[in-house]
Amino acid sequence: MPSPHDEHASQVIERAFRVLPDADQLATAGASTHADGTYPHLAVSAGGARFRDIAGTDYLDWYMAGGPVVLGHQHPEVQAAAERQLALGANLSLRSALEVDVAERLCAMVPGVEQVAFAKNGTDVTSGAVRLARAVTGRDLVLTSGYHGFADWSKGADDGCVGIPDAVRSLVYEFPCNDVSAARDLIRRHRGTVAAIVVEPIRYTRLDPDFLPGLRELADREGCLLVFDEVVTGFRVAPGGVQEVTGVPADLVCLAKGLANGFPLAALGGPRRLMQHLPPTHFSMTYRRDALSLAAADAALSVYADQDVAGHIAALGEQLRSGFAAANERVGLDWSLDGHPALLHMATPGRGRVTDRGAITLFVQCCQRAGVYIEPYRLLPSLAHTEDDVVHTLEVMELAMRTVRTAFESGLGGQLDGPVGDHLETRPDQPAALVAPASGRSRLRRSRRVLRRARRLVTRPSTRSRA
Ligand code: PMP
Repeated sequence: MPSPHDEHASQVIERAFRVLPDADQLATAGASTHADGTYPHLAVSAGGARFRDIAGTDYLDWYMAGGPVVLGHQHPEVQAAAERQLALGANLSLRSALEVDVAERLCAMVPGVEQVAFAKNGTDVTSGAVRLARAVTGRDLVLTSGYHGFADWSKGADDGCVGIPDAVRSLVYEFPCNDVSAARDLIRRHRGTVAAIVVEPIRYTRLDPDFLPGLRELADREGCLLVFDEVVTGFRVAPGGVQEVTGVPADLVCLAKGLANGFPLAALGGPRRLMQHLPPTHFSMTYRRDALSLAAADAALSVYADQDVAGHIAALGEQLRSGFAAANERVGLDWSLDGHPALLHMATPGRGRVTDRGAITLFVQCCQRAGVYIEPYRLLPSLAHTEDDVVHTLEVMELAMRTVRTAFESGLGGQLDGPVGDHLETRPDQPAALVAPASGRSRLRRSRRVLRRARRLVTRPSTRSRA
């Protein structure tokens, strides 16, 4: 019998599919890592390093809203500041002194920043940076490395993104992370026309120490701006971001996620000589003056200034990485947690991110069944996570790895191409097993093929009992 909570969750999901065009992406990463419909994770509350979903289940959270919640959900100081501001008003009609306070904090914290313009989303500030770069250089082309939001100027490099005019696509070229020579080739081919190099300074893998100095040199020689998109890395890797960690200066820096610890705020920062050219670019939006987010940012920035948030996060990340490696070794898989310890990614050494959907799906679902929420393409520790959280997570992950291994040994791993969903039975302290569903009311669209294989697996006792 489904619990009333489950009934409620299913009803909301059905309604979601009617009114939300992207309801299959209710979970973090869509159907590639989550069973359609069975793991929507519509959340109802969050505190510390945990959230509760609509079915009343609590999860240890390694997703942290995709990055913004660097200090943990409802960090007491940020929460109190936002509540105080709520009592005064969320939108004060005019701009407020808070904007000046937060700007001053950023100027003191982030290298090279003398002036700041606020916005709401990462896309706002990366787009603002590019328009500013075009305005000050009088050039049109942009070279990008990484993800910079959903705007035409950057998504034009993605052939899979429809609805972008060819004229806009022709203005952007992408190069891989850590690959200076690819950027150099692009500059050579488009000499004198590049306005900016926009880069996510740390992405999936460990930073090649020559990457950012190489880009700095290229930008200086070409006379274009070097923009660090620190929407994810800002405050997470150091209070001053990757500029502080590497000592490589950017011309402009884009900040968002950690800035207000989950409240919607973004900031474009840079030296006065560049930022003074921003007003004529009409960088403006109604909600940039929202006082609630500015109050939250003021409190969050004081925590970043006073505590070694990045050190705590990096230490937990390293603990996760080494424990994950040891578990992998014991289980006999070839996965690792790659990248900066503050933003880890599941990878297959030498082959980049783990892309085997069947294995990932199975792994993620085993973890979720055990109450550990991960999005395998990025594990994001926060100030609220503890060493005990890491130890527990590693135990859960090792069991999940054993399940994946069992599936591989049964010939199932390579064939799974979608979520396993209801066909996964979890038992305490043992690898999960794939089983036939209790009833025929599966909500999975692609389940039939998976189900046939699951049934075959279930009839093999040796594969189910292997620990
Ligand atoms: N830059 C980076 C590095 C990001 O990761 C993101 C979003 N994840 C963005 C820009 C865009 O931010 P937003 O989704 O808030 O527009």
